[in-house]
Amino acid sequence: SDDYYDSTNHIFKSKLPDIPISNNLPLHTYCFEKLTEISNRPCLIVASTGKTYTYAETYLQCRKIAAGLSKLGIQKGYVIMILLQNSAEFVLSLVAASMIGAVATTANPFYTSAEIFKQITASKTKLIITQAMYVDKLKQNEEKDELIDFMIITVDEPPVNCLHFSVISDANEDELPKVEFDPEDAVLLPFSSGTTGLPKGVILTHKSLITSVAQQVDGENPHLYLTTEDVLLCVLPLFHIFALSTVLLCALRAGSAVLLIHKFEIRTLLGLIQKHKVTVAMVVPPLVLALAKNPTVTEFDISSIRLVLSGAAPLGKELQEMLHNIIPQAVLGQGYGMTEAGPVLSMSLGFAKHPLPVSSGSCGTVVRNAELKVLDSETGRSLGYNQPGEICIRGQQIMKGYLNDENATKATIDEEGWLHTGDIGYIDDNDEIFIVDRVKELIKFKGFQVPPAELEGLLLRHPSIADAAVVPQKDVAAGEVPVAFVVISNGLDLTEDAVKEFIAKQVVFYKRLHKVYFIHAIPKSPSGKILRKDLRAKLESTTQMP
Ligand code: AMP
Repeated sequence: SDDYYDSTNHIFKSKLPDIPISNNLPLHTYCFEKLTEISNRPCLIVASTGKTYTYAETYLQCRKIAAGLSKLGIQKGYVIMILLQNSAEFVLSLVAASMIGAVATTANPFYTSAEIFKQITASKTKLIITQAMYVDKLKQNEEKDELIDFMIITVDEPPVNCLHFSVISDANEDELPKVEFDPEDAVLLPFSSGTTGLPKGVILTHKSLITSVAQQVDGENPHLYLTTEDVLLCVLPLFHIFALSTVLLCALRAGSAVLLIHKFEIRTLLGLIQKHKVTVAMVVPPLVLALAKNPTVTEFDISSIRLVLSGAAPLGKELQEMLHNIIPQAVLGQGYGMTEAGPVLSMSLGFAKHPLPVSSGSCGTVVRNAELKVLDSETGRSLGYNQPGEICIRGQQIMKGYLNDENATKATIDEEGWLHTGDIGYIDDNDEIFIVDRVKELIKFKGFQVPPAELEGLLLRHPSIADAAVVPQKDVAAGEVPVAFVVISNGLDLTEDAVKEFIAKQVVFYKRLHKVYFIHAIPKSPSGKILRKDLRAKLESTTQMP
């Protein structure tokens, strides 16, 4: 009966009305559309130096850098890798890339050399913007790697063969070339393993990112109500789509200020919140845990916070209530996102301009201008209220597809345009979404992606390992940690520590194995698929392992 629920087809829509979205603009034009009204408002605040850029300064810097990139030979469609901690240069480079029609691929600067090179090669990166301390990781291994040609710019003192950031930031903005845009052009290329396999480039276009930001902050009664008076906490890494979209792009669109913090340390963070009077905090569950468990919280005045939005991983009811006791004045709630979904699928209506009552533990209701359904994977039918199934989303915000991977794209976005998330959830009578399980392989350590297929691939390269499978194990602090089941090759010896060490050398810290179980065979389906559910059940049911 309600027009936001199509009961015949079980399609859920937002309770808020759809809005017009100007998603035929280039991303930077959309984000700075209200520039003249807010030109003197603070845009970026760099926590480590205290330096503040107004909107006018930010926009001018972006134009200079865009002109500089163009002078260096970066053309429309070229990929630039941003390998930086949260910083003004991160933001400026990202917007500048948009201005010349280039594509920004973001990567974790803590990645190992091998992890970075996989992304450089897959994305055909032409230029890397980074810090001097990461340059050693960008040395190519002539024997092992496919050699590729890229330039390196450092934001600090450049090592040999690297250029300094001023080469681009000192360019003349009047030399910024005119570029033809198509809303379907890629602008961002984050990497994600999605529902299965190795990390893949996720093609996000101007249209998809604008649509997602508009779904969050545009209109008379936006889902996420931000104003030019707000100061947003940006301590989550900008290389992940949650901070990039819901913190940075939403703030730019709304004219709010972004407090850029490059390193997480609880006391420093609390001090910065107090000093800069942060009003909106985007967080992940481990950060909520750190806040809730840290006694020093009471030493700081964090009463300026009016809204806390948790995402990237499930936030338990208990944790949410603990946080409420610490910041009683703030509205708490969750957003639910996935890189491929552009990224936001749903958000708490408690954040709206005219908020609605919400339940603890829910991850919000579906965003506007989108359709959501809950799929019964066995029958292929969509389900109604209160029945768990796979969450699927449709709308102009979702990715265009995976880079150079048609099969993976087809496996994720079906012929009717539905993106299958690999998350199991249900919609309650109040139209709120509750995520209860994950059918995809992905492991999430503190919200960071740990793709099991990647670790399995590395394990199989060990001479004493015949077969291996990696699955998540529940963990209080991290949410989940990766653990391995390993089959030792006939007649060979191997210890748990040796396996852990072997992996630790090759991956970023959060992909390290927390436990290794030796077994005789990895359970597999007749078609050879690892029966991950069985292994997960094995972990849960026994304290004594084989
Ligand atoms: P990523 O692409 O790295 O953002 O990871 C997306 C995945 O993180 C989703 O498909 C979910 O499995 C998980 N996730 C994100 N937000 C939430 C949330 N609020 N509650 C539960 N799981 C979440």
